[in-house]
Amino acid sequence: MSSSSPVTQQTLYLPRPIVNKLLAHAQRYPDIEVCGLIGNDEQDEKYYYPIDNVSKNPNCRFLMDAPQQINAMKKMREKNQALFAIVHSHPTSQATPSDLDIEESSYRDAYYIIISLNTKGVLEMRAYIQKEGSMQEVDLILEDED
Ligand SMILES: [Zn+2]
Repeated sequence: MSSSSPVTQQTLYLPRPIVNKLLAHAQRYPDIEVCGLIGNDEQDEKYYYPIDNVSKNPNCRFLMDAPQQINAMKKMREKNQALFAIVHSHPTSQATPSDLDIEESSYRDAYYIIISLNTKGVLEMRAYIQKEGSMQEVDLILEDED
C-alpha cells in the first residue's frame, strides 16, 4: 500500500515552546475544551493561534469562533504559514477523538492534536491524521531547543 497523505507524516515533531503554550492554554480553562490552530512557516517555525470556543456545551465539544478563525487564517497567509494542526482539549476524557471530532473534522491536510486533562497531574497530548472518515494516531515527539 502506498501512502496517500503527501503533507502529513507519521511522526509529528513539536517544539517544546509550542507544546508549553498548548498545555498552558488548556490548563488555564480546565472546565472547557480550549481550541486553536498551529501555523507552520517556510523555516518550519510554528505559531499557535488560540481561538475562543463558542460552543453552547464547551465542556464536551468545541466550536471555533468564526471571526477569530478567519483572522488566524488571514494572519497565517500574510506570514506565509500553512495550517499545520488543529488543537483542542478534553477536560474530562482521554486524548482520543470523540465520534463528534471525527464527524466534524474538515481539514484533511492538518494534524489533529488533542490534549487531555483527564489524568490527574499528568497532561496527555496525542496527535492524529485523518484517513477516510477515521483518525489514525501518529507519533508525537517533543523537540527541545538546542
Ligand atoms: Zn474532542
